[in-house]
Amino acid sequence: MNSNNNTPIGVYVHVPFCEKKCPYCDFYSSPGNEKKYDEYTSAAGEMIAYCGKTLDRTADTLYFGGGTPSLLGAERLGKLIKASEAAFGGSFREVTVEVNPSREDFDFAALRRAGADRISIGLQSANEDELKLLGRTHGAYEAKKCIVSARKAGFENISLDLMIALPGQTGESLRRSVQFCAENNAEHISAYILKTEPGTVFYKKRDSLALPDDDEAAEMYEYFCSLMKEYGYRHYEISNFCRNGRRGLHNLKYWRDEEYIGIGPSAHSFIDGRRFYYPRSMKAFLENKTVEDGPGGDIEEFIMLGLRLDEGITKERFFLRFGTDIPEKYTAAAKKLQQAGLADVRDGGIRLTEKGFLLSNSVILSILG
Ligand code: SF4
Repeated sequence: MNSNNNTPIGVYVHVPFCEKKCPYCDFYSSPGNEKKYDEYTSAAGEMIAYCGKTLDRTADTLYFGGGTPSLLGAERLGKLIKASEAAFGGSFREVTVEVNPSREDFDFAALRRAGADRISIGLQSANEDELKLLGRTHGAYEAKKCIVSARKAGFENISLDLMIALPGQTGESLRRSVQFCAENNAEHISAYILKTEPGTVFYKKRDSLALPDDDEAAEMYEYFCSLMKEYGYRHYEISNFCRNGRRGLHNLKYWRDEEYIGIGPSAHSFIDGRRFYYPRSMKAFLENKTVEDGPGGDIEEFIMLGLRLDEGITKERFFLRFGTDIPEKYTAAAKKLQQAGLADVRDGGIRLTEKGFLLSNSVILSILG
């Protein structure tokens, strides 16, 4: 990898607390309390300062994910934003905080004043029966209240998460969820197909859940993509959609194979061609024990991640990174898929078509050979 130490990195801060575990979720989180939130804020703040000092890099995106970052409250999050500004050069183009819509008392105005400018809300669905099945503690009413409060506080960039292929989900119910997002003028929507991950309650119950099979899930995803188009959203990444050019700048770094530092248990990092992560353990994080995850940033990885984006791999971006054109073996493989309408090879670059997005796993593997 051609490391360029002048390029700003992204900073991800994992907040490992949730009020209650959702039955489908395998993210690292557990219940907290005010004392634990204080302790974690001070530990994460110290680690941010330490990483800023040892890496000596600037950063231009900051993302608080979880878990439920909003549980920390605006004041603690503000402290972590300040610590990040001090550690990484002080000017972020985007500061995102994931918010759970069930807390009505969250102080959005204070969070906005502290420097956050983007909110990501775990809506998952706008249908009460689906939310109940997912074990969520909010309804559409609470989600709407959350959006209204964030707007009132000055947030002009709101992302909503949705889930596809839920047991019992219909085209009509999916349309209702999309309509909810569009009517509330969400700038960005992330949509994920429900997967039953080992270790979750849903995994144990998977045989009794009446989950859609792979074909039905793919059909649902295809229908969802058509709804997004109908409501004016650009399909800019396999699972992400936006209006008015509001792509998620932090997550763009992941797909463009750019560098980021992850702070907190289970957080992953990619710096100077090296991938590493904190294990799913608070103790390991507090002791700053990371696990090596091998080298990163080679041509195959760059192509694999970049093809998730509608911009694909451009000749220019490839050249800037590797100092050569895209090797012929990849463009030749993509040209074969072009005949089937799955890829588009032009101006020395490769991108997947909408149809290619639907079959992205196998299409990307065919291009990589
Ligand atoms: S889905 Fe979100 S709120 Fe639910 S347990 Fe997972 S991280 Fe927490």
